[in-house]
Amino acid sequence: MESKRVLITGAAGFLGSHLCDRFIAEGYNVIGMDNLITGDLKNIEHLFKLPQFEFYHHDVTTFVHIPGKLDYILHFASPASPIDYLKIPIQTLKVGSLGTHNLLGLAKEKNARILIASTSEVYGDPLIHPQAEDYYGNVNAIGPRGVYDEAKRFQESITMAYHRFHGLETRIVRIFNTYGPRMRLNDGRAVPAFMGQALRGEDITVFGDGSQTRSFCYVEDQIEGIYRLLLSDYSLPVNIGNPHEISILDFAKEIIKLTDTTQKIVFKPLPTDDPMQRQPNINLAKEILGWEPKVTREEGMQKTFNYFKQLPKAALEKIAH
Ligand code: NAD
Ligand code: UDP
Repeated sequence: MESKRVLITGAAGFLGSHLCDRFIAEGYNVIGMDNLITGDLKNIEHLFKLPQFEFYHHDVTTFVHIPGKLDYILHFASPASPIDYLKIPIQTLKVGSLGTHNLLGLAKEKNARILIASTSEVYGDPLIHPQAEDYYGNVNAIGPRGVYDEAKRFQESITMAYHRFHGLETRIVRIFNTYGPRMRLNDGRAVPAFMGQALRGEDITVFGDGSQTRSFCYVEDQIEGIYRLLLSDYSLPVNIGNPHEISILDFAKEIIKLTDTTQKIVFKPLPTDDPMQRQPNINLAKEILGWEPKVTREEGMQKTFNYFKQLPKAALEKIAH
């Protein structure tokens, strides 16, 4: 039987590159697409020698053309770290809106099923806890984070419109903080930031008083959830994340212990609109996908630190906060 063909946007990024690996391992032909604005070809260089893999260096906010058939599209292109989308706010809005529109159009032309990467940020600074899919969220549209949150909310909205109006097969995953190997060490997100600081012998920067919470999911669990959702028949949004919640201050202490460093914690101002609490309710994913995370934070953080440790010295470049 002919292999299925899948287009993955954001392929040179953290999640996109792991998705490429997973689909190749499952026997698919994979087309990776990326404009490298926050990604790195090193994340997928091991795939270039494979005949099942093709790469298009392309910005998805301009017309996307792929010759031949397509069975699935996974739209993961978008800056994903707060310092990235604050640096490139217009591109962030464009990739969630124009980029998603282009990919929905491509899916319609090819009669392909499309899964889009949404986020827990659609819940904003949530007023209910934990967050289930039926919560509408609390987003400040005009704040600095609004460029990401509203792009993702528009993305969900246009995806549902293509589903309802054109009958397109669509899937929406709401991803909660996911970490693991291939994150950019200087992308400013808490996991690489703290681990980079530990490796450089710098103090660990906790924003605010560190009482805000997050729930960290290991990449392997996240990819499994996304894979199952794509192959399911469920078209409304589904949360995929690890409900094991921790305050950022306690998390910083865990990283100091794990990395066996003697650095101290220093407190810096809390960024505007930084959500105070975040924890996924994953009952829906359990019910319809039979999915739940398996990797403990201790195990996942150790694997991630092992990855960062073996990177060349040049990758230890400091974050520009
Ligand atoms: P990442 O920055 O590592 O990867 C994003 C990739 O998209 C990069 O390789 C970048 O170059 C590419 N890209 C950006 N704009 C593009 C454009 N216009 N055209 C083509 N390529 C473009 O981030 P990530 O953590 O892998 O996130 C991937 C997706 O998952 C994003 O859509 C993000 O919003 C979503 N997400 C991630 C998390 C997480 O915790 N990692 C949480 C919620 C949602
Ligand atoms: N954070 C921090 N110090 C850092 C980087 C992040 O205290 O050097 C905090 C940040 O303010 C947020 C949490 O860690 O409360 C998670 O931040 P991240 O950027 O990883 O993800 P997001 O805010 O998008 O959930």
